[in-house]
Amino acid sequence: MSLTLTDILAARAAIRGVADHTPFVPSPFLSDRIGQDFLLKLENMQPIGAFKLRGAMNAVMSIPDGTAGVTCCSTGNHGRGVAYAAAKRGIRAVICMSELVPQVKVDGIRALGAEVRIVGQSQDDAQEECLRLVGADGLVEISPFDDAKVIAGQGTIGLEMLEARPDLQTILVPLSGGGLAAGVALAAKTIRPDIRVIGITMERGAAMYAALRAGHPVEVDEVPSLADSLGGGIGMDNKLSFAMCRDLLDDTILVSEEEIRDAMQVLFFEDRIVAEGACVVGIAALLAGKLPQATGPMATIITGRNLDMGMFLALMAGKDVHLGELTIRGKTYGT
Ligand SMILES: *Cc1c(COP(=O)(O)O)cnc(C)c1O
Repeated sequence: MSLTLTDILAARAAIRGVADHTPFVPSPFLSDRIGQDFLLKLENMQPIGAFKLRGAMNAVMSIPDGTAGVTCCSTGNHGRGVAYAAAKRGIRAVICMSELVPQVKVDGIRALGAEVRIVGQSQDDAQEECLRLVGADGLVEISPFDDAKVIAGQGTIGLEMLEARPDLQTILVPLSGGGLAAGVALAAKTIRPDIRVIGITMERGAAMYAALRAGHPVEVDEVPSLADSLGGGIGMDNKLSFAMCRDLLDDTILVSEEEIRDAMQVLFFEDRIVAEGACVVGIAALLAGKLPQATGPMATIITGRNLDMGMFLALMAGKDVHLGELTIRGKTYGT
């Protein structure tokens, strides 16, 4: 199955009224820095605080009438998206999680109207329960990134960016399972074949980066990172997002935890935006001098805002932050 711009246009119609057009605004600080317009696509303004609602809504709208409901085992933004989308369509959603998931995440998903099923001690146990529900209850599983409808939904972001600024030269896309990068690159490159789309991710546990270098999906260890929404594997039996990222991305770049910290501070102190570590990887690469010189307008996607505010405030105040075995040293902004 091969996706085209037609699927992305259909997705836009399917998600209208739920996951709508978000603002696309210049960052004066970053524009000044590169001597070109630098634009931010504010997906942190979606109703669930992240872009994943687009793909989830498109997938939920596409399942046939009479289907019992949907399920997934994401505890992050995709789980929120599926919960919200299912409530909008008025169908059952069951989000499977392990016992290790913090209560606040459980409560957050329940508040969106979904059932939460807590099983086992690992993400693998949660995934098993998900598959059991597909068999036993007739629920449809929605993958966070390796699903044609999800990729087409995320692609509507690229469509909106190119419609607003057909002169964009480069798009920096936060990269994890690659659904976002695949959809955005497909939309952007169909409209403007010469545009550059660069996937950016963190050094710690970058599954797609490792897979693209190996030429096939590989297992990576899941480790704590400020960009926690970019963690997780791409699936050893990946069907769509790996090949699309391989064929459509011009480059993939890694950034360190310190570079992510610095970029979160820049986005907060200069643009006054509260954003997850996952969103700022493009800005981090830019500030670290890891991108080629911009000779035209550049943009990135502020993908989400769902983070621990205690951690965020500590980071902004220049305090040390501990994530599992990882310590991110504090740094006061502007020093
Ligand atoms: C899921 C997610 C990403 C990455 O999207 P993929 O389609 O998995 O590559 C980036 N940022 C945030 C905030 C996310 O939730």
